[in-house]
Amino acid sequence: MADAMQAKQQISELCQQLNEYNHQYYVLDNPTVPDAHYDRLMRQLKELEQAHPDLMPLDSPSQKVGGEALKSFSQVEHQMPMLSLDNVFSEEEWQAFVKRITDKLADRQHIQFCAEPKLDGLAVSLRYEQGILVQAATRGDGKTGENITENVRTIGCIPLKLRGENYPEILEVRGEVFMPKASFDALNEKAINNDEKTFANPRNAAAGSLRQLDSKITAKRNLAFYAYGLGFVNDENWLANSHYQRLMQVKQLGLPVCPEIKLLADQSGCAEFYQDILNRRDALSYEIDGTVLKVDDIGAQQILGFVARAPRWATAYKFPAQEELTELLDVEFQVGRTGAITPVARLKPIFVGGVTVSNATLHNQDEINRLGLKIKDTVIIRRAGDVIPQITGVVLNERPVDSKDIIFPTNCPECNSKVERVEKVHHFKTKESESSSQATFRCVGRLSCKAQLVQSIIHFVSRKGIDIEGLGDKIVEQLVESKLVTSPADLYQLSIEDFLSLDGFAELSAKNLFESIQNRRNITLDRFIYSLGIPDVGDSTSKSLAKELGSLNSIRKCHPILLSFISDVGNETAKEVFEFFNDKHNIIVLDKFKFDEIITISDEHQVSYNFASKVLNEKWRIIHKLGILKVGEIASKALVSRLLDLNDLLELNYERFLSITNENNKLLSLSIRNSVLDKIKESDFRVMVNDIQSSIDKLDLVNVSEEDTSDVGGLEGLVFVLTGTMKSIKRSELGKLLEAHGAKVTSSVSIKTDYLIAGEKAGSKLAKAEALGINIIDDTKALNLLEQNGF
Ligand code: NAD
Repeated sequence: MADAMQAKQQISELCQQLNEYNHQYYVLDNPTVPDAHYDRLMRQLKELEQAHPDLMPLDSPSQKVGGEALKSFSQVEHQMPMLSLDNVFSEEEWQAFVKRITDKLADRQHIQFCAEPKLDGLAVSLRYEQGILVQAATRGDGKTGENITENVRTIGCIPLKLRGENYPEILEVRGEVFMPKASFDALNEKAINNDEKTFANPRNAAAGSLRQLDSKITAKRNLAFYAYGLGFVNDENWLANSHYQRLMQVKQLGLPVCPEIKLLADQSGCAEFYQDILNRRDALSYEIDGTVLKVDDIGAQQILGFVARAPRWATAYKFPAQEELTELLDVEFQVGRTGAITPVARLKPIFVGGVTVSNATLHNQDEINRLGLKIKDTVIIRRAGDVIPQITGVVLNERPVDSKDIIFPTNCPECNSKVERVEKVHHFKTKESESSSQATFRCVGRLSCKAQLVQSIIHFVSRKGIDIEGLGDKIVEQLVESKLVTSPADLYQLSIEDFLSLDGFAELSAKNLFESIQNRRNITLDRFIYSLGIPDVGDSTSKSLAKELGSLNSIRKCHPILLSFISDVGNETAKEVFEFFNDKHNIIVLDKFKFDEIITISDEHQVSYNFASKVLNEKWRIIHKLGILKVGEIASKALVSRLLDLNDLLELNYERFLSITNENNKLLSLSIRNSVLDKIKESDFRVMVNDIQSSIDKLDLVNVSEEDTSDVGGLEGLVFVLTGTMKSIKRSELGKLLEAHGAKVTSSVSIKTDYLIAGEKAGSKLAKAEALGINIIDDTKALNLLEQNGF
């Protein structure tokens, strides 16, 4: 009796909880807990209901399909119900499913299965009448769905008219609308940059995008569709007797069907299919959460029939969860190479995505604010493929009363120096998001901070840096710990005896490491720049700086406004470079290298022609960047035409303005004149202009030699990414040609990419470029482009 009372109570609680989760998931497209957690509760409910069938509420969520249709859409009664799927999570459960089927179909020798990926989107029903798409509806509660015809019409791969002539008068096709991973990443990236809410996963993004009242929004979201079944069809004779064959019929009519689906001769191939798709899960361009195994023969399906919410002839064999719930035990702060303090979440260990996870990076304060995170919170942790684990959400109604705010330290946890807040502004190419800022915290201790010193030296000796073989992280830690090294230049002063004084060194290993270091005294400029570990300066920016400015001295003297003329140096990077070289700690570190004594930069040259000509011939750009209100391109050009040099700007007065006209021979407006005259009174502005002019003078731009003109590339400033197999030229050769013409070739697609050159079998890069609206060309077009630029 007590047992039944308890079960009743549990059932009621579970129903209430699951109904709430259903509402958040199906109606609001905003789940608050991972699917794995939902599935566990649903299992508990089903087990209790099986043990106590009389206690099952009539409206139990175990008997329902989906959620209610939103009233803001008109309603569609499904002529044939749209059901859900039962699911299995293990080999034993799968075998039990097979046994139930084979028992029911005892007279059949072989049962063929159609095996399909379980697409993680949302089910829709497409109704074609006389071959024309007349209606599209969501599943809703299985009987009534939402009319989303206008939105579905914007999905490029769904035909508005069927192909050919051979189709029944009325044909309902069922399938999944989903958002490819690349579109999802791009959508969330944009949302983060715009300080907007992100979608938890592609399923919710697809559902949210499809259930928009404004179909123009849906059209922008890059949704896709795969058909996996049929609803009402008015002509039985048209229909094949096999599920697989029916999908092929649908495909013939122009509807996309997932290319991974397979017809299996019997159940023995199902486990192999499951494993194969699981292995390739990360490489697929769309999200899946398992496989679906369906009895193929329609006659057999009819014998097996349905239970309340799902067919008996199919099951979803789900993959292990990639999202789980766990507790945030604490947040610790790690100090990186540049002094940036990164919060790291310490988690109650949890098995997710195939590994036990106990830490996750939280990136920065903004990320913590975005998540609204507190210590002791129950958090959603996601680990998909090889991607590092991430906290994607907080379960707010599980927050304990003693939860604690996460406080950033005011002093460095490693060296106790002060921590400063740095606001970083990111600029974007898209119209929607011009810029956003992110706060990072940095320890000001520089190399007096042990953590920064260790990380700086590790970076300094890394493969893309000075490249010292055999100098691993552990040795660096020992060198810093024993105070043998307090700055990167100290490495060159180490003796064989110094190494022998460390743990784990013998005569030979000490000698080898000593020689490795001594062999790296001659270094190219780009490597040296990279090895310094300037924030935001990777190997490609180091190459650009070395190529354009030619010498360490020029780089050190270059004003940020001039630095930003270099193709892949944005305003923020320019500021970082300038601040790095003007920081008093860093000046000492650099002086210790005693150039040409301890270390020699082997390939210094003059400022490139390309850079010099930009600075000298396009001076208006400098004026434009000075931030004088109302002074745009036209006014900047007008001003430049009448100035002796930049400092002359500071000498302007009303009289001189009377001789300054724009390209249409008109005087500059009074408001522009006033704006300039007000600005040049500001002392900070005067200092800045003086600094830029003196930087220009020091760079010795006038003496650019004639032969340097070969540097000018017709594709200067353009960023290319190459992917897939090219038809007419090797990818690496095409890359070299582009670089020789001044283009920059990078390996990953981002909003900064100008062109993606896509060959055959292009995969995720192509999808991402499409999602970001980047120009996509093939190798023939790329060669034409080179030809136009003098190839
Ligand atoms: P389901 O997603 O488990 O399976 C049925 C659906 O799978 C179909 O309606 C169809 O849309 C889809 N599907 C994908 N590929 C298919 C294929 N090849 N053939 C047939 N169908 C295919 O069922 P459901 O009823 O939509 O949702 C239940 C699941 O949703 C739960 O198991 C849970 O994981 C999740 N859920 C989560 C929460 C939450 O709060 N996190 C809440 C509700 C539901």
